[in-house]
Amino acid sequence: MTDKYILARENGRNIPKEDKIFGISNRAKAAIREKGPERVINGTIGALLDDEGKLVVLESVDQVFHQLKPEDYAEYAPIGGTAPFREAVQKAAFGDHAPEGFREAVATPGGTGSLRNVVSNYSSPGDEILTSDWHWAPYGTIAGEIGRKVATFTLFDEEGKFNGASFREKSAELLQRQESLVIILNTPAHNPTGYSLTLEDWDQVIDVLKEEAASGKAIALVVDAAYIDFAGDEDEYRKFFPKLGELPENVISIVAYSLSKTCTLYGTRCGAMICVAKTREIADEFKRVCEYSSRGSWSNTARVAQVILSRIYEDPQLLKRVDEERAGYRQMLLDRGRAFSEEAEKTGLPIVPFDAGFFVSVPCADPDAVSRKLEEEDIYLVPLKLGIRISVASISEEKCRRLPAAIRAAMEAVGEKID
Ligand code: PLP
Repeated sequence: MTDKYILARENGRNIPKEDKIFGISNRAKAAIREKGPERVINGTIGALLDDEGKLVVLESVDQVFHQLKPEDYAEYAPIGGTAPFREAVQKAAFGDHAPEGFREAVATPGGTGSLRNVVSNYSSPGDEILTSDWHWAPYGTIAGEIGRKVATFTLFDEEGKFNGASFREKSAELLQRQESLVIILNTPAHNPTGYSLTLEDWDQVIDVLKEEAASGKAIALVVDAAYIDFAGDEDEYRKFFPKLGELPENVISIVAYSLSKTCTLYGTRCGAMICVAKTREIADEFKRVCEYSSRGSWSNTARVAQVILSRIYEDPQLLKRVDEERAGYRQMLLDRGRAFSEEAEKTGLPIVPFDAGFFVSVPCADPDAVSRKLEEEDIYLVPLKLGIRISVASISEEKCRRLPAAIRAAMEAVGEKID
């Protein structure tokens, strides 16, 4: 159902009166105020919280923040980002696994800004952007805002493995109809499933793109790496990057990197889009068109987090401290995810293939009904199209252990088939 507009134009979008997640989250907060945090499980929040429900902020990063001088944050930054940031963010994203090719970084307001700029520059109005059926809903919002739509392939096959066949089929279908194709893969530690593409999955992706590139059309592969530093060992989880260097000239890879989670700087709105291109001309074009688009949307990105990241990468001791501190919290997160999946297995609750990260998902036929039932037990989770999303990032390990049995009971109560 579309809402009626008074003065605003609909422009093909369906803008609800109330954001569903926002509503659930408000009810969760009200329940916590009324009944206390122990009685309530609020698994809706997409930020890392400690066991007491407080936002985790890396102290090592916060110290840099507090040492800044006014000129570090008050002045405008260049449109594409400061020179030290452009360098530092490539080190942060790729670690020791930078792909071969011509690389350029453009600063953006978070990973969201990168996604917006890719869609606007590498697809045409009316195009469909390809991503997986389980995906972060704002992809659709970003596409819809600029006259594009999202099309999906099936992420998992019957055995719960990456569905390379569906990826191939859908890419081919879209490239038959369109002159260009933007593909968004959110990995590692995908939102909302927690899946990470394996190196073998990546080989399939690269093979498909090489085949499809024979059409000569323009393809942009976006690696949405928002959760890369919370997936597990930083080095292991970056080993897929060199594969991007194998792609042919008409496929540009763009990493959407975000400082929101990696540096716990969510509110400073900083990230970068980093391209890997086969030729200097394509990399220069990337920088030129993305800076132009930035100018026409948010102009420049806030300077503050750019300076913070640059300082961290200028000082090996400080970088070590940040990495170590993050590793401690990452372990806490991984333990929570493991606790949830272990209990799910014990209780016979099916979950979508999970590896690591902020979220786990449970497939079900009527996610809204399951979610409403859970609210009766003071459990607040996010109903998606294909299932229920649980933010293990925002609840303690003990609550993670309690949840699977409660979810299973709610599913049974609303008549869900559980196999
Ligand atoms: N991509 C995914 C899958 C996300 O979940 C998020 C944040 O929740 C982002 C990108 C971008 O976040 P930000 O714009 O804060 O960097």
